[in-house]
Amino acid sequence: MPTLAKYSVGVGDRFAHQAKAQLNACVLAAAQGAEVVPVWNKSNREHTIIGSEPGSVRASADAAVKALGWAKPYHVDADHIRLETVDRFLAACDFYTIDVADSIGQPAAPEAVAAFVERHPELAGSIAIPGVSSPFTTTRADVERVAAKYLKAVQDAGAIYRKIAAAKGADNVIAEVSMDETDAPQTPPELLLILAALADENVPVQTIAPKFTGRFNKGVDYVGDLAQFEKEFRDDLAVIAFAVKTYGLPANLKLSVHSGSDKFSIYGPMRRAIRDTGAGLHLKTAGTTWLEEVIGLAETGGAGLDMAKEIYAGALKKKDELCAPYATVIDIDAAKLPAAEAVKGWTSEQFVAALRHEPANPAFNASLRQLVHVGFKIAAQMGDRYLAMLKACEPAVSRNVTGNLYDRHLKPLFINQD
Ligand SMILES: [Zn+2]
Repeated sequence: MPTLAKYSVGVGDRFAHQAKAQLNACVLAAAQGAEVVPVWNKSNREHTIIGSEPGSVRASADAAVKALGWAKPYHVDADHIRLETVDRFLAACDFYTIDVADSIGQPAAPEAVAAFVERHPELAGSIAIPGVSSPFTTTRADVERVAAKYLKAVQDAGAIYRKIAAAKGADNVIAEVSMDETDAPQTPPELLLILAALADENVPVQTIAPKFTGRFNKGVDYVGDLAQFEKEFRDDLAVIAFAVKTYGLPANLKLSVHSGSDKFSIYGPMRRAIRDTGAGLHLKTAGTTWLEEVIGLAETGGAGLDMAKEIYAGALKKKDELCAPYATVIDIDAAKLPAAEAVKGWTSEQFVAALRHEPANPAFNASLRQLVHVGFKIAAQMGDRYLAMLKACEPAVSRNVTGNLYDRHLKPLFINQD
């Protein structure tokens, strides 16, 4: 099995034009002594909305790596796939985000639950985990209840993993299991049980994406209790280290933080936690790069600015349709969305200030940003007209893509500041 590096960043590139600019951010981090490996991720949902194929992600990643002479590893992620959607990713991808969130709470066979509880007496009682302040206390009934909730999801992860490994050979597959796109967060004791079950299923999981406490809205900062997040994050790191030893999971198993872009307020706590524990981290970003494309168009002015305004107007018109697939991961205040007519009169500076993620800037508009985030379908429908404009505005676009990824993400997370 290929081993995923300690630090990695998932980079989404909706239109397959920014791989070089994204890789440049990893080059800048490497120059500062932080090896952060790029993983180009694009979900089945994004491919479907845009009308693209996974091979295009592979091609643009390979081309960027060649152009910049990147000699470290890189990967292409079949993001959020399931048994019925994985097939078209098999040729192009070496990283698989196996999404089993929809199977959480589905009933597993009662005898499978009973067998799990029987096999894992160590999960009931008081469990002292190094790095966790107070031991988890659970009863056998708790174990049974939590196993009943998650066992079907873990069994599904096993089935999807085996399908991928059979098609590609286990030596060519990095497996992530994701449970983030669901309503309730998974607690650290639940994570421990899930990892025990994944080990039973022989899934060599290298990254796991739980749902954390708080809101991870697309393209904007974390909303939630920072102290509680930090405690949970540290407990999760301790649980993972413990599960690796106890259940023989891959030694490099680490957390994957989904919708991880733009969560500025938790990067400090996360950086200190991985520094203190020596843990690895996968941060998944996706639409933040598409937003930088729109910023690049607006910053260029002229026809670029006009197109940025057209994208906003189009997104506003189709707001409900665009927001529906992302309902659990956006919070848009419709009253804060400026009318398309008003935006038409904006200067470059006004448009960029509203969209660029600088929370301290009074002109920043989080609702507008989230709407544009989910509005990539409008640009996809423009087809070649949008792609030609990306090329025409290339200097500003790539400067913003690289700067956003490096200055606002890799630097605060992976480069020591204290
Ligand atoms: Zn996700």
